[in-house]
Amino acid sequence: MVRRALIIVIVSRRQCILGLLLLLAIIMTTAGSLAFLPVMGTNPLAGKVIAVDPGHGGIDGGSSHGSLREKNVTLTLSRILAKELQSQGATVVLTRNSDTDLFDGISVEREISISKEEYLQDRQAGRKTHSLDRAVAQGTRIPPPYRLGLRTRLIIASQHQADLLISIHTNKYRSPSARGSATLHQINSPASKRLAQAIQTHLGTLVPGRAQPDVIPDDFFLLRRSPIPAVIVEVGFISNARDREFMLSAEGAEAIAKAITKGLRDYFGNGLRQRLSVLFSSLPNLFAPPSVLVLGKP
Ligand SMILES: [Zn+2]
Repeated sequence: MVRRALIIVIVSRRQCILGLLLLLAIIMTTAGSLAFLPVMGTNPLAGKVIAVDPGHGGIDGGSSHGSLREKNVTLTLSRILAKELQSQGATVVLTRNSDTDLFDGISVEREISISKEEYLQDRQAGRKTHSLDRAVAQGTRIPPPYRLGLRTRLIIASQHQADLLISIHTNKYRSPSARGSATLHQINSPASKRLAQAIQTHLGTLVPGRAQPDVIPDDFFLLRRSPIPAVIVEVGFISNARDREFMLSAEGAEAIAKAITKGLRDYFGNGLRQRLSVLFSSLPNLFAPPSVLVLGKP
């Protein structure tokens, strides 16, 4: 019994040292990946580049209610969101800051050439191809002007090396009672889905009402072709009086900007928390009771 107790102490001490060495090794190996992440307590948005895209613009008014045009609502909301994100330390790129459709941001020839490349990549990767992408790539359809405008938005985001693309829109439905926010995410991007969930956690509470789910996968051009995590935020229904009044009011717009910003903070913050939880989840094993080890020894 005495010998066994002694062995336990020795093994415990050895295990402790082993544990500490392993912990040190883990910290050293993860230090590289943690180094570029925000330090605990600092702002997770600091140093991030966010592309904010006010939906529609110019001859593309988007949805409407009376004389109210979606393109104007999205521009106002996007400017306020940009300010809020900047105040939190992010660098913001607005894809447009005036009433423009961005249709002339890229030539038809260039769009056909990019579409060909993408179509080829889709086929090589065995991905399902979109009918319009296929038609443009094969030369049976000229890319429609709105596609040039959307491509321009993607190019602007990529030129500024944006980390995320947030496209701001308003919804519309024939029934004026339909209301509430929803965020659309890229179909095969877990990061985009996590971003949409993070945004809706806050925006869904602020602008509620839509039937669940309010986080929806979609393959709209912007989502389908964005190389960085992208979401389309449908802030509320332009066809619903309560949503409309809220979006158009200064307090409402401010609250919406804050809710989306909180979502982005959570999105980047969670990345750090996930890494730290991986690090700390290994600790209980290192300091586990040594009984099994002792009994297993001859
Ligand atoms: Zn829209």
